[in-house]
Amino acid sequence: MRIQNKIALIFTALSAGIILALSIFVYFFASESISSGFFHRLEVRSDIVGHAGLQENKSLTSIYYDIKERHLGSLPYEKHRILPDPTDEATRKRLALPSSFFEAPQGDIPARFFNHDTSYVVLRIARDKRKIMVVSSALDTYGMQEMTNLKNLLIIGFIIAMVFVFTLGKLFSNEIFKPIRRIIRNVKGINAHNLHQRLVVEPTDDDVEALSRTFNDMLDRLEVTFEMQNNFVSNASHEFRTPLTVVSGEAELGMTMPGLPEGAKESFLNIYKEVEKLEHLTTSMLSLAQTGFDGKKENWEEVRIDELILSVKEAADRIMPDNHVTIDFDQLPDDESKLVVLGNLALLKAAFSNIVLNSCKYSDNKPVRVRISADAKYVIVEVADQGIGIPDREIGQIFVPFFRASNTARYKGYGIGLPLTHNIIRMHQGKVEVHSRVEEGTQFITFLPFKYSVFS
Ligand code: ADP
Repeated sequence: MRIQNKIALIFTALSAGIILALSIFVYFFASESISSGFFHRLEVRSDIVGHAGLQENKSLTSIYYDIKERHLGSLPYEKHRILPDPTDEATRKRLALPSSFFEAPQGDIPARFFNHDTSYVVLRIARDKRKIMVVSSALDTYGMQEMTNLKNLLIIGFIIAMVFVFTLGKLFSNEIFKPIRRIIRNVKGINAHNLHQRLVVEPTDDDVEALSRTFNDMLDRLEVTFEMQNNFVSNASHEFRTPLTVVSGEAELGMTMPGLPEGAKESFLNIYKEVEKLEHLTTSMLSLAQTGFDGKKENWEEVRIDELILSVKEAADRIMPDNHVTIDFDQLPDDESKLVVLGNLALLKAAFSNIVLNSCKYSDNKPVRVRISADAKYVIVEVADQGIGIPDREIGQIFVPFFRASNTARYKGYGIGLPLTHNIIRMHQGKVEVHSRVEEGTQFITFLPFKYSVFS
């Protein structure tokens, strides 16, 4: 879950807890207050009814009732029972109330009970040695309605508050995380090819500023390390070249020496061949180092991809004369400008040669089809073979330097060609896609932006 959502949820849960506690408090406080008011009103009526019941004089009794009706009115379902003898078991049973009910009132102080939505009041009244007990009951319909309304109001209020709090929480956390998202976006765009880029540091004097500075410091250190490593590979490859050229020259000269025994000639030939391979390897490593880091863009020119592919085919014919590479021009775009890319001819040739020669090598010279086409932005070169394929789980690694798939044991190679190709294509703002099935074949699709699309 994203941190923004987490914050919004925690914020909402906290607010829910607080609002819920407050609502419960309000509900019970209101309920207590309404019920206490109602009991009080019932007690007053009960007291009047009790005193009326104690009057011997019937006209006084009716005055009591008259005052009660006139000034207090009746409560809903109001009932009063006068127990002339509170200890009388028969009367108690008739009322079907718990016996503790009749023992509860202490002296003049009435007892209150609430049972099945009905409020009960029990009152003892004594006068002129006469003692009676009044049991009054009524239904607080108005109070119950009030409580139902309050409950509904609190529930609706709670739901609305939650929606409001969650929305606000999301907006709030979104706003707080804006700079972090900007940093993530910027950091994502930084790789070995543009390690010189830095994050924009806004002087906000907060954690975000500290984070941006920390990233930039880390990028400084990474850049220095990358540059050192690259310079090392570059210099080493460069330094290897001269002695290798000398050795291959000497071997070539040795082979042509007159009167040389056959065995020695063969040795010179072996030295020559192996040194050639080493030269190729050091040249590839040098190119890999040069293209892998903030690609150098000198010697860039307009390159026609169809012509380039033809020259790659010529090179393949020289290196692997038994190849079956065919070029399919059927989907060539009518607009010739879609075949022109801006780039380094030598590097692009090396990139496509690697792909085509690999296809010949890993298919033991079975047919390889090269097709050139274009879409709205890219000129597309598709190289398809019917070779050994690449195991599914290894496809993602074939552009990693020195990686070789597990099914290549019987083929020679160093795992440098494709990483170099990848770097070259990326340096030209293009991309390479690979589709492969073991024992069926492999398809490399290269996309290069044509010259005018780069500037448009
Ligand atoms: P290598 O010198 O091993 O050919 P590359 O860098 O050119 O090195 O290729 C890397 C790996 O990618 C190869 O070792 C091989 O496993 C795989 N690969 C490249 N092209 C093909 C292909 N056309 N068919 C099958 N596997 C291939």
